[in-house]
Amino acid sequence: MYDIAIIGAGPAGSTLARLIGEQFNTVIIDKRCFSDMPADYGSGKCCGGLLAPDAQAMLAKMHLSLPHSVLSEPQIFVVRAIDFQRNLERCYQRYYINMNRWQFDRWLLSLVPSAVDVVEKTTLKTFERQSDHYKLTLSSHGQLQTVKAKVIIGADGAFSRVRKIAFCDRPFPKKYISIQQWVQTDDDQSYFSSIFDSDITDYYSWTIPKRDAMIIGTAVEPGPDAFDKFLLLKSRLKKYGFRFGEVMHREGAHILRTERLNQISTARNSIALTGEAAGFISSSSAEGFSYAFRSALMLAKSLRPGLKGFENRYRAYTGPLRTNIVFKIFKSHVIYNPHIRSAIMRTGITSMPIKYQPELTGHVATNCV
Ligand SMILES: Cc1cc2nc3c(=O)[nH]c(=O)nc-3n(C[C@H](O)[C@H](O)[C@H](O)COP(=O)(O)OP(=O)(O)OC[C@H]3O[C@@H](n4cnc5c(N)ncnc54)[C@H](O)[C@@H]3O)c2cc1C
Repeated sequence: MYDIAIIGAGPAGSTLARLIGEQFNTVIIDKRCFSDMPADYGSGKCCGGLLAPDAQAMLAKMHLSLPHSVLSEPQIFVVRAIDFQRNLERCYQRYYINMNRWQFDRWLLSLVPSAVDVVEKTTLKTFERQSDHYKLTLSSHGQLQTVKAKVIIGADGAFSRVRKIAFCDRPFPKKYISIQQWVQTDDDQSYFSSIFDSDITDYYSWTIPKRDAMIIGTAVEPGPDAFDKFLLLKSRLKKYGFRFGEVMHREGAHILRTERLNQISTARNSIALTGEAAGFISSSSAEGFSYAFRSALMLAKSLRPGLKGFENRYRAYTGPLRTNIVFKIFKSHVIYNPHIRSAIMRTGITSMPIKYQPELTGHVATNCV
């Protein structure tokens, strides 16, 4: 019997396993396989792979620095914000680290102590309470197996099975479908673009350069026209002057947008959620790594004195993170209100005078200044 079964070896699950693995008899279970490099482009997890300043700060706090293998190219210092409908554009200085998401997850998992059992290519199907522990039913290569654990941690991301089973009576964050394509490009992009267009989504779309490719992505409300909206994004990008060719890889995933504080669920009955499964993600930028790290750190701290009563400690420790989420919800109301956003963009406040002109960069002329 395990003390703790962690479902999900993403940034939240691996960080938690690294921090508690020596103290408790722990297993970490993931449906992905981390030893086989994905055959084509992409990372096995649909993601932009940008490490934002808040996430960089969390790595620093955990005394971690990134190995070279995790880095992608180019490194990015500019966000190009484009409002398609108002034909407005501004550039903002931001310091992201452009990463290979698969290598990032692999590296975080490699830091987990050897005392932890790592079980890959295995999916949690369900679990049930049995006196003082849980019986988990797992599926691996079409075969069902069971393991027992005193505590279950759902670090299983936006589509959390643990949350669905154990917190089904609690409000869920709003769900979006994110669609990404990796496309060929000869466009030497030096920026990450965030695109606002209410015909496509009430959230945002993006392009991210990755070596010889460019990721085109959007987060749209689920529905039969989700892919049509993605195609609309591509056609508007082309009209705007973005140059791209053949699709090299397609991927999709759910992404959560926490719109109210009661959509965050943390812990009860010896079950806890961490990272995006709990609802910890920025509703203004969809940045999730810093929240995965922070919530895993708080969960590890609440487990340190022992399993008894960790749920209340975790709820208390995550107070500052909830406050931060409230701020992001407020920020999201500002950014995603078309009138306020265009007023802010028109002032040019905090923007940088960069022009993407054909003679300088190969791009179409824009009103970025
Ligand atoms: C398109 C897209 C782009 C994004 N870009 C960025 C970005 O650039 N920067 C950023 O900071 N954030 C980004 N995010 C958000 C970020 O990816 C997540 O918030 C972050 O990965 C959350 O970490 P996590 O560990 O909580 O969950 P995840 O990283 O989602 O990890 C969950 C793990 O659980 C496993 N799992 C799920 N269900 C089961 C099951 N039933 N059984 C076994 N294993 C299971 C999965 O395989 C996965 O490994 C993006 C999200 C999307 C969808």
